[in-house]
Amino acid sequence: MATKPSYRLFDITLARRTQVSASLVRFTFTGPEVSQMATYAPDQRVKLFFPEGGGSLDPLFEIAKLEEHDWYGAYRALPDAQRPSARTYTIRALRPEQAEVDVEFVLHGDNGPASRWAMRARPGDRLAMTAPDANAEGPKLGFEWKPPQNVRRILIIADETALPAAAGILETLDDLPLKPRAEALFEVPRSDDVQPLPQVAKLNWLAREAEPDCQHGELLMRALRDIDLHTEIQALGGTPANTTTSATTNDESDDEDGPLWESATLDDSAPFYAWIAAETKVAMELRRYLVNECGLPKKYVTSMGYWRKDKANG
Ligand SMILES: Cc1cc2nc3c(=O)[nH]c(=O)nc-3n(C[C@H](O)[C@H](O)[C@H](O)COP(=O)(O)OP(=O)(O)OC[C@H]3O[C@@H](n4cnc5c(N)ncnc54)[C@H](O)[C@@H]3O)c2cc1C
Repeated sequence: MATKPSYRLFDITLARRTQVSASLVRFTFTGPEVSQMATYAPDQRVKLFFPEGGGSLDPLFEIAKLEEHDWYGAYRALPDAQRPSARTYTIRALRPEQAEVDVEFVLHGDNGPASRWAMRARPGDRLAMTAPDANAEGPKLGFEWKPPQNVRRILIIADETALPAAAGILETLDDLPLKPRAEALFEVPRSDDVQPLPQVAKLNWLAREAEPDCQHGELLMRALRDIDLHTEIQALGGTPANTTTSATTNDESDDEDGPLWESATLDDSAPFYAWIAAETKVAMELRRYLVNECGLPKKYVTSMGYWRKDKANG
């Protein structure tokens, strides 16, 4: 018998919206099956579907009613014109006992179906969502935050789209047995996007509005360069790119179309862990800096492109 797929479709209804900060809104959804939803890590990803351009969510609501379903096959089978837009988001919090799930959206404008929906959404609005099924038997999938149990040093680097995940990560840091020294760099649009988050890491908030000409990610790169990482990375055996041996140990030469998603490959004894999520090119450049310039072995870095500047994610 086939194993139950790890993700399923959920029919969800907006219960309330809460302004978290100037650019970020938390949406609390409820629904008949939300008590059967699961989340395994603070960066658990989900897909949300938006009824755009004549596409209706009704076919997805019908699929969601079925106990066993292949949501992806059914979604792909819809005619192009009727297929709703899908975008990836993060479960900020799940309360299965109350059948509630929170997702936080960056309001970046009217230029994409997700942000457009978020700007206008009112309680009672319905969406479809794929998320982990608590009753699935297979492996737990859909997240990258996998800190080694004995890690001593953590870097968390996020722009506003990854802040929901990063905020959740901060809430779990105290669970790590060796209480690692953690540092977080958060780039946000405005100074009133700063949120009260657990002070378990050295938090560095970087608001672009303070420097109107700066590009997305520029403040993250500057702040990363300001941390004296070279010495501690050398202590881990890393070799920066300006030495003769680095090309074979750390070479990281991804080009513009190179990898957007790189997962650390670590066992529990690893001392260092970097988790980066931001605009795709920004995430690539931050990773390149750590690997090429600082000599950090690639295996210590998880780096993810969460969106692409001037390109729809669909
Ligand atoms: C694993 C994962 C988890 C994510 N979690 C979250 C989350 O919890 N909250 C969240 O808000 N986003 C999250 N994102 C990012 C989100 O999927 C993208 O921002 C997505 O492009 C938004 O879709 P859209 O329909 O609004 O815009 P699209 O149709 O994809 O893009 C339209 C235009 O808007 C631009 N654009 C897209 N996002 C932004 C932005 N943030 N700022 C400025 N311009 C933008 C694009 O460059 C494009 O020009 C996540 C992405 C991934 C891969």
